[in-house]
Amino acid sequence: MIGAVDIGGTKIAVGLVDDDGRVLSRTESPTDAERGYAEALVRIEQMLRAMLAAAGIELTGIGIGSTGPIDPFTGEIGDVNFFPEWRGNNPVADLSRIFAVRVAMENDADASALAEAAWGAGKDKERLIYVTVGTGIGGGIILDGQLYRGVDGAHPEIGHHVIDASGPLCMCGFHGCWESLAAGPAMISWIESKMPEDYAHRDKLTAKRVCELAREGDALAREAVDREARYLGLGLANLVTLFAPDAIVLGGSVMKSAALFLEEIRKTICRCCRFVPYEKTDLALASLGEDANLIGAARVWHHRFDRKEGHCA
Ligand SMILES: [Zn+2]
Repeated sequence: MIGAVDIGGTKIAVGLVDDDGRVLSRTESPTDAERGYAEALVRIEQMLRAMLAAAGIELTGIGIGSTGPIDPFTGEIGDVNFFPEWRGNNPVADLSRIFAVRVAMENDADASALAEAAWGAGKDKERLIYVTVGTGIGGGIILDGQLYRGVDGAHPEIGHHVIDASGPLCMCGFHGCWESLAAGPAMISWIESKMPEDYAHRDKLTAKRVCELAREGDALAREAVDREARYLGLGLANLVTLFAPDAIVLGGSVMKSAALFLEEIRKTICRCCRFVPYEKTDLALASLGEDANLIGAARVWHHRFDRKEGHCA
């Protein structure tokens, strides 16, 4: 039984996940980063201990998926936007000391990629790219069951390749990277820049709401969705051309509305990826549902320590 810890910008989720990727129990708490790292660590310990006591079981290990950047080898938290003051703290070392088990941590997108590869839509795919589209665009690359890492363990940022160099400036340094044009907030910015004074749906627009309005036939929302599909298609076509993967698994909140985008995405891939066997790349939706991040956190432990499975290291 693996203790799974998902550290996000808004909430920390903790769960118990069995060796087949099933979540047996889960609980969560607001991240409340301003209360400090030490306080958050105590909460994680309490949540996990309460769950273990209720289930009457012992832990094999703990896996952590965290919003990044984090160092997967040292276990240190880097310069994370959501909790910059936590920098340099080490939840891997701390939870290992507290629970006397082995602990591993990965970037949360890599954790989800590992889970989809082992237990989800990417099962049995040798070359898999997981893409999550929500408030940002991130992802992970799995080759032969192994997580692809950059130099010094760096997490490749597939959401930050350039789609349109005349596009908006992103924190990554590029103008017009994929995230700046196709993440959820980009949909909202675009529709806000185009909507007339008397637009009936001005308030509380979210990417989800824009998709709902498009389904209801709102012309401007329909345009926003078409634009989103175009940019998603270009980014995914680039990944198909660069990697010619067996599968791309699509997750994240925006992809809950994938039915609105998939036709255009497929057309773009068909039109633009002629130098690779694009028709062999399976485009699949993430299949692990609401608990994907927790399942991913648990999979991080298996990937690092459970060598019996052959595919894992
Ligand atoms: Zn960027």
